[in-house]
Parts: sequence; C-alpha cells; structure tokens
Amino acid sequence: MSTMPVSPAPAAPVSAPTPLVVSAAKAKLWLGGTVLFGMLAYYFVGVDQGAFSVFGGDMHLHEFVHDARHLLGYPCH
Ligand SMILES: [Zn+2]
Repeated sequence: MSTMPVSPAPAAPVSAPTPLVVSAAKAKLWLGGTVLFGMLAYYFVGVDQGAFSVFGGDMHLHEFVHDARHLLGYPCH
C-alpha cells in the first residue's frame, strides 16, 4: 500500500497594517483646506444671521442652517 505525500495547506497571507504616508506639502494643504472649510462652516452656521451677513439682508442662508443653529446651541431668536 502506498501513501501519497500530503503537502501542508498553503499559509494564509499575512497582512500588516501600513501607515498612511503623506508628504508634508500635502499635509499642509489638507490641514489648511480643512481649517478653511471649518471656519466657513462655523461662520455660516453660527454667525451669519441676515442683518450681519455676507449676502446682505437675505435670510435664505440663515433659514437653511436654522435647525443646525438650534442643535448646536447658538443664540438665534
Ligand atoms: Zn431659531
């Protein structure tokens, strides 16, 4: 009686986490864009109220973010 050689099962590939590699120039660009976007969002949600507004006395922007103002606790009316 002959036996066939049994080869071991192939090992599962080992995955290792790789760090996110971003150049300093790209990191500065992303950080600057994020800060700018955050400041614009802060202004339009929290400060722009129509009477003191980028768009003059127009209240459309204020009404658009009205629920967000109340959710975040900004004084409104
Ligand atoms: Zn309100």
